[in-house]
Amino acid sequence: MSSLSFEYQFFPVSHPAEGAGGKTGNWRVVKPIVSERCIACNACFLWCPEGTIQVRGKRAEVNYEYCKGCGVCANVCPVKAISMVSET
Ligand code: SF4
Ligand code: SF4
Repeated sequence: MSSLSFEYQFFPVSHPAEGAGGKTGNWRVVKPIVSERCIACNACFLWCPEGTIQVRGKRAEVNYEYCKGCGVCANVCPVKAISMVSET
């Protein structure tokens, strides 16, 4: 039976880093924009598969260098504070 660290089991959040799966580049077609409706609940931070959005101060901020534009953050936001905006 494999052993997973405590952190992995209960806090499965990845963090952006350079490498084979590093910076997004220019292929992303939509990006998340956080509005003033954000209540800093951290749901987007917890669900983002790339670890590229987190609350700073009273609003979530996106690291666009690594964000893949998947839209998970917009879908989980309880107050619909995130809009996916076309980049093309
Ligand atoms: S669009 Fe996807 S990768 Fe980008 S911040 Fe939202 S959940 Fe993370
Ligand atoms: S899920 Fe929505 S309300 Fe919560 S921190 Fe993210 S943007 Fe803000």
